[in-house]
Amino acid sequence: MKVLKFGGTSVGSVENIANVKTIINDGEKKVVVLSAMSGTTNQLVAISNHIANKEFVEAIEKVNKLHDTYVVVIDNLLSHAVLNKEVKTYVSGIFNVLVESINKPYSVQLENEIVAQGELLSTYMVTSYLNQEGVKASLLPALEFMRIDEHKDPDLNYIKAHFKSTFDKAEDAEIYITQGFICLDDKGKISNLQRGGSDFTATIIGAAIHAEEVQIWTDIDGMHNNDPRYVENTRPISNLSFDEAAELAYFGAKILHPQTVTPVRSLNIPVRLKNTMNPEAYGTLINNDHSETGVKAMAAKDGITAIKIKSGRMLQAHGFLRKVFEIFEVYETAIDMITTSEVAVSLTIDDDKNLDKILAELEKFATIEVDKNQSIICLVGHSVVNHQETYKLFQILQDVKIRMISYGGSNNNISLLVDTKNKINTLQKLNDYLFELVTL
Ligand code: ADP
Ligand code: ASP
Ligand code: MG
Repeated sequence: MKVLKFGGTSVGSVENIANVKTIINDGEKKVVVLSAMSGTTNQLVAISNHIANKEFVEAIEKVNKLHDTYVVVIDNLLSHAVLNKEVKTYVSGIFNVLVESINKPYSVQLENEIVAQGELLSTYMVTSYLNQEGVKASLLPALEFMRIDEHKDPDLNYIKAHFKSTFDKAEDAEIYITQGFICLDDKGKISNLQRGGSDFTATIIGAAIHAEEVQIWTDIDGMHNNDPRYVENTRPISNLSFDEAAELAYFGAKILHPQTVTPVRSLNIPVRLKNTMNPEAYGTLINNDHSETGVKAMAAKDGITAIKIKSGRMLQAHGFLRKVFEIFEVYETAIDMITTSEVAVSLTIDDDKNLDKILAELEKFATIEVDKNQSIICLVGHSVVNHQETYKLFQILQDVKIRMISYGGSNNNISLLVDTKNKINTLQKLNDYLFELVTL
């Protein structure tokens, strides 16, 4: 069986939902994972922020406005009177839950419950629409089987067993629809797989059922060689290895949730990226093929903090790095990039929640400089560090201001740290030169 995931834009309008129907209605049994309609999760986050700030009037206004938009979509989607009424009743129930949340004290748990409503809405509406159109669809409630453990990793054994029992008791259908993004935590409370998490839901289910393939259907024709939101003249890449896709997703290629390929890479389950609005386009196939070498693509991750740790005592002193790393370990903060010299170590983190505590510890034995608002630009491709074309990078560097560079950490990745205000310019320059749109 295949698992197909459709993102927010793909279920974001009546026209696109009709495209989804055409794509999935090919006579093959399949699991379909849906995101919330585009914009909904952002609205739910905004509602929850209003509650946190005790802005109750704004919160209720947003809830009512969102409810109105759903009523319009339902009227356009469901001409069948009985289904139309049934879906409106379900949707009103969800909006009542949201209204009741406004009277509750804010907590992270309340926020998790609020943001979970978007996927419940979209899956219910699309299942009813498919049934109206004569496509036999059955709903698999994700909260019955999708669960994370105390480290926030998917609890695969639990998911396998519970997915099977949910599937077995579901009404027999062609299309089994489920919610992306939402899950239970290790205590059985509603949680989620972080923003963009529906991609991750799809590959977790893919791994749990040993799917033949996972398809991620979105609003663009596959992974491009650079970020199309910032850079002109990007091109889709037809093939990526799991390693390349994992690096690009981790370093900011928004098309994939950072952990998308993790569940399927060891099982060698291919992941295909496709465009709902242009299903004929080949898209991108992610599998075990490593045959192409050189820079294939780049991505950028914002919100990075660089920390320079200088210590006289570092000279010839062993144990210095251990001392530094231990502090980051205690505060459960991952380090992304690291460079060293005789007198200093520079490293980067993207989670600065415990920055003050980390700095207080480091300052006990070193002088610290901190630069916020940095971006990591990551060049990805097999053997990229050995490839003859990579030398061009060093010619380009004369035109851009680099704070750190990491070369050779792995054969497949070169990372540059730049001030975020120089990110777009740097991405565009690298794009033009490395992908030979301009010759040096
Ligand atoms: P969905 O709602 O379907 O999950 P997303 O918005 O999460 O869609 O991801 C698709 C978007 O990712 C694209 O519209 C594009 O703007 C953005 N994106 C960023 N980097 C890339 C890239 N390298 N290749 C393709 N799309 C990218
Ligand atoms: N709806 C969630 C979000 O907007 C999950 C997803 O779209 O993948 O982050
Ligand atoms: Mg997404």
